[in-house]
Amino acid sequence: MGDLMKGKRGLVMGVANHNSIAWGVTKALAGQGAELALTYQGDAFGKRVRPLAEEVGCNLLMNCDVEDISTVDEVFATLEREWGKIDFVVHALAFSDKNELKGLYADTTRENFVRTMVISCFSFTEIARRAARIMNNGGSLATLTYDGSQRVMPNYNVMGVAKAALEASVRYLAADFGPRNIRVNGVSAGPVRTLAGAGVSDARLMLNYQRRNSPMRRNVTIDEVGGATLYLLSDLANGVTGEVHYVDAGYNIMSMPALDELKT
Ligand code: NAD
Repeated sequence: MGDLMKGKRGLVMGVANHNSIAWGVTKALAGQGAELALTYQGDAFGKRVRPLAEEVGCNLLMNCDVEDISTVDEVFATLEREWGKIDFVVHALAFSDKNELKGLYADTTRENFVRTMVISCFSFTEIARRAARIMNNGGSLATLTYDGSQRVMPNYNVMGVAKAALEASVRYLAADFGPRNIRVNGVSAGPVRTLAGAGVSDARLMLNYQRRNSPMRRNVTIDEVGGATLYLLSDLANGVTGEVHYVDAGYNIMSMPALDELKT
């Protein structure tokens, strides 16, 4: 327990269960004294998220499905009514039809392309615009991304294209809001076993491959992703904006499989 975030209030979007990356971020923020609001997607998730919210002393728990923009408006209206101003927002949500997270990217349908982009990419812009209106001086926004945006990951397909657009959004939003002292950054997490992660075909193979071939020879935990996100949301990162920060045990720096792996 520390007080890095003492006196700061913010919103975390994307907790589905105790395996969610957003839960790792929530625990890290709460552990440093932040006052938190959480959202969940629909009643079924709400039942699972409520006890987690209670665990971190969060009493602002709201339903939000980013496909229904009225629920996003309602979240920010509630935040303004209850708190007036906020200091940070975490966007840790994504969706694509799992039938298209396998096979060829070339076979992506128009319908799923648009849906994936709206939920996984454009929602961050819609949320950032609403958040910026009620942010204190020195606000900070963070979104979760993955290296499939930069390089081809088998089966990641349309989600990789959406993450590339999300990372570009981070830079454009950082430029838009920088003059108001609002920072915008991305955290590029290595693979983690979560509900969304399991939607990508052969996710287990990818997880094991990255574990064997990352410099640290392991995968990362949601607490490690949470720690790096906490840093970007805190005053420690006051000079940092428009960045995509990798938390992947170094996997992204490698240009070929580890030699010990090749020799076995
Ligand atoms: P998760 O399944 O725990 O979380 C995904 C969240 O997205 C859920 O809470 C779900 O309710 C929410 N969501 C989906 N559609 C939504 C909608 N229409 N409206 C509102 N919420 C919606 O999985 P996770 O892996 O923790 O995913 C969080 C973020 O981390 C995602 O952006 C994901 O792409 C990213 N990420 C995941 C990994 C990984 O390997 N798991 C790696 C890098 C980045």
